[in-house]
Amino acid sequence: MLEIKNLQVNYGPINALKEVTMTIEKNKINAIIGVNGAGKSTLLNTISGLVDPDQGEISYKGRQIQNIPVEKRVKLGIGHVMEGRRLFKDQSVHDNLLIGFYFRNPKEKRRNALLKINEIYKQFPILGNKQNQMAGTLSGGQQQILIISAALLSEPDLLLLDEPSLGLAPIIIDEVYQLLEELKSKGMTIIISEQMAALALRISDVGYILERGQVVKKGDRSYLKSLLDSDGLSSVYLGKA
Ligand code: ATP
Repeated sequence: MLEIKNLQVNYGPINALKEVTMTIEKNKINAIIGVNGAGKSTLLNTISGLVDPDQGEISYKGRQIQNIPVEKRVKLGIGHVMEGRRLFKDQSVHDNLLIGFYFRNPKEKRRNALLKINEIYKQFPILGNKQNQMAGTLSGGQQQILIISAALLSEPDLLLLDEPSLGLAPIIIDEVYQLLEELKSKGMTIIISEQMAALALRISDVGYILERGQVVKKGDRSYLKSLLDSDGLSSVYLGKA
């Protein structure tokens, strides 16, 4: 689905990613685990095209994409939910979806935008029922679903989510994770970044541990769990689940 080879990103003298190589498997939830500053956001931003790599290749469905613009990557099926809750709280739910749609598909006809938004309302009736309400009045979980829905409007096959649990109460994290599992059951491939391995591993099939821009460990959920439990990394990575 997605092959990353020897990816390197520098911000001036800072090496944010160093020779990152990974194979993201189709229809799985893949976790990128690392502490603050490990390079998680840089990696997701480089996959979606917001950051240009200094070196390396990214191929998606067999096609090299590292030099093509964000907009084209969206068209190829890459959706990205960036870090932090980026909602326009004083705009309605409907307008947030419109803004989200046009941010990703600036040249599309309005009719298509409305059709896609109606599909989202069918999928998430709570958003349809509250479409005229200000986004800031939704609960935390509903806001996160709204943010993810905006990315779903372009019908991605690969969805990147940067720390989707950040700042959310545990019960809301459950709601968001349930949504991600539903998306996976419909065939989507998902990459999430997480600081707390214990959280990520609750839903991930595969995980990569990133340290100072390098992949230091990778494996399936049970391998990573045993690794984190056994070698003393747990206090750094497990956090509270
Ligand atoms: P966080 O959880 O804080 O988002 P992260 O694992 O996502 O951390 P990145 O944000 O990718 O890590 O940062 C990786 C490194 O690159 C850090 O040292 C960070 O300070 C640096 N960095 C990130 N963005 C920039 C930028 N625009 N300019 C300069 N340095 C940056």
